Amino acid sequence: MPLLNSTIPGAEPTTAAFKAAEERRTLKDFLAGQSSHTIMRHCVGLIPCGKAPPLLQHTIVVAIACESFEVSPSPLTEIGIATFKCSQMAAVGNQGHLAENLLKQAKYYHYRLKEVAHLVNTKYCPGKPWLNRFGITHFVNLGEAKQALRDVFQVPINPNNPRGPVCPVIFLGHAIKNDIRMLSKFLGEEDGTSSIFDSMVAVIDTQIIARELGLERQQIGLQRLCEMHGFEFRNGHTAGNDTAYTLISAVWMAMRKELGFDNGQFRSVPKTPEQVVEAVSRSSRVQGGQRCRGTATFCEHCESVVHRTRACRMRVNGDYCAKAGKKAASLTHTTHRCKNAFIANSCAARSPYS
Ligand SMILES: [Zn+2]
Ligand SMILES: [Zn+2]
Repeated sequence: MPLLNSTIPGAEPTTAAFKAAEERRTLKDFLAGQSSHTIMRHCVGLIPCGKAPPLLQHTIVVAIACESFEVSPSPLTEIGIATFKCSQMAAVGNQGHLAENLLKQAKYYHYRLKEVAHLVNTKYCPGKPWLNRFGITHFVNLGEAKQALRDVFQVPINPNNPRGPVCPVIFLGHAIKNDIRMLSKFLGEEDGTSSIFDSMVAVIDTQIIARELGLERQQIGLQRLCEMHGFEFRNGHTAGNDTAYTLISAVWMAMRKELGFDNGQFRSVPKTPEQVVEAVSRSSRVQGGQRCRGTATFCEHCESVVHRTRACRMRVNGDYCAKAGKKAASLTHTTHRCKNAFIANSCAARSPYS
């Protein structure tokens, strides 16, 4: 997996860069000897750093979920990101009910790829990306998507020294191999891409944490994991929501003992898990101070960044749908943004007779 073994081609390491790389390697070796559950407990500040490498105190967790279109060549359509600094978590005095205040510390992002925003899954893993509940959805092109990833994977330890060493990153996901595969394919192998991920020191997966805790022998689904923790997998299969549900499940699994999870449920608290998830969702949509790439306004019909899709008044005419006798559909998008044309072209490309 290229994302996990990255180097910067041709880079001449300075003494400081060499020292930073050494420290990162020491931390990586330390984490390699820990279970995913223990790593997550470190991340939420439940285990004092003690004998851990000092760099651990600067660690950031980056949770990611991706969505790609269900028809080959399956372009990446969405990236969800939720991220927090481990030191922030440790510093929270009042964790709130079910760690609500910890979960509100995280920043939540939801990116949709402009070029393929019209390719929405309806068959195998139907999703409704316009019903994202965490963070404010932004539309990005390829360059902006790369920059968005760089924003969270390349965070300087000292904000006053942006060219200095960066915070080590623990990459969290659910069935994360799929997301790594989608990101690798999307980003390609060109120079400058692999360096985005050279801050990574560990990869952890909620499926593995669940197995370590004996919750399920098989690979647990995200929906089942949410239900197990007492909240609905609402508007799932959308990257922003799946990312948040992954992070919430990971934090709650890490803190099971402290949160009093017993006999399949949390002990009685003033708020239900569902209410806490809703509170985190609301907070994530009003939090300020986080920089999103791309534009929040984008029309999937005509590509305007001035109005949203439902406000589109542009007269468009999708030739493909018009020729196929789908008159009503043809008036809603250009051929360039036609899902039916994409599927037809994809099928033709795969046909041995084409
Ligand atoms: Zn429009
Ligand atoms: Zn069409």
